[in-house]
Amino acid sequence: MELCSKCYKKSKPILILLLLLLVSCHNDTKVKQQVKSEKIQVKKSNSIQKPKAPDLYIDIQPYEGLDDELSKYIFKELSKVHPRVSMLPLISLPQRAYYKPRNRYRADTLIYLQKNIAKPNHVILGLTHKDISTDNNNIYDWGVMGLGYQPGNACVVSTFRLKKMNLKEQFYKVAIHELGHTQGLDHCPDKTCLMTDAEGKNNTDNEKGFCEKCKSHLIKKGFNL
Ligand SMILES: [Zn+2]
Ligand SMILES: [Zn+2]
Repeated sequence: MELCSKCYKKSKPILILLLLLLVSCHNDTKVKQQVKSEKIQVKKSNSIQKPKAPDLYIDIQPYEGLDDELSKYIFKELSKVHPRVSMLPLISLPQRAYYKPRNRYRADTLIYLQKNIAKPNHVILGLTHKDISTDNNNIYDWGVMGLGYQPGNACVVSTFRLKKMNLKEQFYKVAIHELGHTQGLDHCPDKTCLMTDAEGKNNTDNEKGFCEKCKSHLIKKGFNL
């Protein structure tokens, strides 16, 4: 019994030690595995990050008859808020967009034609002095200051319905409003925001700039606002 007792006494710490070793080894493996799986998780979450959207280019398309000073002004002002603005050579207004009964051009046809010639990652901003129109709910051929896809790669703006005394400023405000639509922005409830709805009137003079919400949306799209 002595032996037994001796053995027992001796064997007990060894057993406990062995058990402790086993437990610590087991725990160690667990920690390592956790670290490993954490690394894998980090790797996985990095690999599913959205790729950066390609840079956007803004191409200004002046249509024949527009005062050269006006297209240059739009180019100058847009270049202050966007790093990639260029001017396309002047072209004549497509006959296909002409609406003879009211001597004006269909804005929906113009942006459709622009859409088809736009290069990838480019948006074409058409500028004209002619009256432009589109369908508005149940009204066929409703005169507008501008029209753009939301979102999309084409928009068009006309000087025809703008106030002559501050034509340049109004033209720019409508142009950047339509560009905002092409970048996915909807109409804004803030009446001083450039994205406010015209609602059939010309309230452009009340617009002071983009509200914080619209501004942050455009900054994410590459605008310097
Ligand atoms: Zn609008
Ligand atoms: Zn806004």
